Amino acid sequence: MAIYDKAARRGLLVVLSSPSGAGKSTLTRRLLAEDENMSMSVSATTRPPRPGEVDGEHYFFISKDKFASMIDQNEFLEHAKVFDNYYGTPSQPVEAALEAGRDVLFDIDWQGAQQLTQAAADDLVRVFILPPDMHELERRLRSRAQDSDDVIAKRMAKSEAEISHWAEYDYVIVNSDLEEAMAELRVIIKAERMARRRQHWLQPFVRALISGE
Ligand code: 5GP
Repeated sequence: MAIYDKAARRGLLVVLSSPSGAGKSTLTRRLLAEDENMSMSVSATTRPPRPGEVDGEHYFFISKDKFASMIDQNEFLEHAKVFDNYYGTPSQPVEAALEAGRDVLFDIDWQGAQQLTQAAADDLVRVFILPPDMHELERRLRSRAQDSDDVIAKRMAKSEAEISHWAEYDYVIVNSDLEEAMAELRVIIKAERMARRRQHWLQPFVRALISGE
């Protein structure tokens, strides 16, 4: 029988984007908890940590000077200014994960998704999460109770701009029901993992199959 190793596939870069409050963090947390082959890309940011955020886990919290020097050293896969702060994806851990055959999940905005499209289109799966309506979005933002009214108003204003980029994504999920959204996310990832161009084992397998080895 022809020998094959279905695990021998290329890793995926899965980008999840959404306006703040659309439920992206919950989906991300759930996906990482249930999927051993998926790891999170930890971004660097110049914004201060929110209560409960851990350096190196939620973000690498760094100074503007350090951020600028990382740009100079070409250490980012992509970076962008969001609100009044800078955010970027350090490339080294992403490359290490892909080499080890692991998928990497990105919680980045549309600017990051556009830059990743230029840098790594073949490996990319872009998913946009929409809230069921704008009132629900504001309610979710307020229930976090971590940001001031001023910041919430700013985020709401930005949401519309973020949403306007929905058509640049491969898949769109409307998150009105968490379980349903999770199920949709799972099938997207499952199908993308099975894409023929990512299945490196297929070519030797079919060759062996035909030659009767
Ligand atoms: P927050 O400050 O709420 O954690 O994130 C604000 C925005 O920055 C979110 O839309 C998030 O997706 C985006 N973001 C976080 N990390 C990165 C990154 O590394 N690159 C880019 N382009 N956006 C990011």
